[in-house]
Amino acid sequence: TSEFDVHAIRNDFPILRESIRGHQLIWLDNAATTQKPQVVIDRIANFYTHENSNIHRAAHELAARSTDAYEDARNVVKDFLHARSVNEIVFTRGTTEAINLVASTWGEENLGPQDEVILSNLEHHANIVPWQLLSKRKGFKIRVIPVDDDGNLLVEEYVKLLNLNTKLVAFTHVSNALGTVTPAKRIIDLAHQAGAKVLLDGAQSVSHIAIDLQDLNPDFFVFSGHKIFGPTGIGVLYGKEELLNAIPPYQGGGNMIKDVRFEHTTFHDAPNKFEAGTGNIADAVGLGAALRYVQGIGLPAICQYEHELLQYATKLLRQVPGVTLIGTAREKASVLSFTLKGISNEAVGVALNDVGIAVRTGHHCAQPILRRLGYESSVRPSIAFYNTHREIDILVNTIEKIVWQGRRSY
Ligand code: PMP
Repeated sequence: TSEFDVHAIRNDFPILRESIRGHQLIWLDNAATTQKPQVVIDRIANFYTHENSNIHRAAHELAARSTDAYEDARNVVKDFLHARSVNEIVFTRGTTEAINLVASTWGEENLGPQDEVILSNLEHHANIVPWQLLSKRKGFKIRVIPVDDDGNLLVEEYVKLLNLNTKLVAFTHVSNALGTVTPAKRIIDLAHQAGAKVLLDGAQSVSHIAIDLQDLNPDFFVFSGHKIFGPTGIGVLYGKEELLNAIPPYQGGGNMIKDVRFEHTTFHDAPNKFEAGTGNIADAVGLGAALRYVQGIGLPAICQYEHELLQYATKLLRQVPGVTLIGTAREKASVLSFTLKGISNEAVGVALNDVGIAVRTGHHCAQPILRRLGYESSVRPSIAFYNTHREIDILVNTIEKIVWQGRRSY
């Protein structure tokens, strides 16, 4: 929208003023991690300056302050995702730990040799490997929803995979390698009709698409703070309350227990049951500040702005001779993936860095989808709401130059 003031937003992010090799930084590696607004940096500094204490465990003033700050952050997450209760919000180290938590608890208890788990061809390794590790011990089958050559999930093939043995469908909301937005609600509804539970990986969707868990209705939803302008080392597992309370704990230790005897220990209900030991208190508080910041701008406005910017970038990039776009799904968010004819992806990354442009090159921890489309790696610019049309122009102009020079020297 015209009210979307990208220049005001950019002023909130001090690192965007950073100079790289004499050029102003152009951060287009948002799918790997996002930059942090001053309010998040200040919130963490304030925590350590005025509030720092362990939580839940002392009568003193600072314990009350830190506990309030931590639980306030949980409440912000609950509102942001439209969860029913703060008891459904478990803080983890990130998406990876949240998926491993579900595999080690719910998966451990509910998956056996007759069972099947459905993943999609788009998954990040974080939503493949934990299930493979568990499958080795439990003997269940892993099935994969295929994609077409543009990177769209084939829902009609998914329907054929569902059967009475399907216990879990675990899939990503947005592909980190291609940007495909999956038809999450349909996939979830179909899974539930088949009696399966659903884990939705929101690592790449939370910062681009408004999440309403009451509408989407997954059983588990996971994301990382660092992908939504918050700190690293903090993330979220959402689980439906009755489900979380029915499954065994993840790690044992302090904070997660009600009563410990050598003969028998009883556990707290969720979320404490899953938060053993001293967690990442300050960064949880920082994540709360990040989500408040995003709420202040509003995801509908962000989504609209980014969608237009992505279309602009796609149109320009398509016109560059020698560029092959990888993944041209009907619905996409944030990510462009491409290769240049005759020039290695690494060389493109290095040449872009020479003028201050940060993109990811490689397999993006999503080897199965790149291989499905015939690639081992790609160049991946990924946008956030602080990127501008001018930055896209510089990116595309630089790629044109690389192509031009590459004919001679690369
Ligand atoms: N899933 C997806 C779709 C991702 O993009 C990522 C991060 N690249 C992850 C999972 C893993 O997130 P983290 O490394 O923060 O645990």
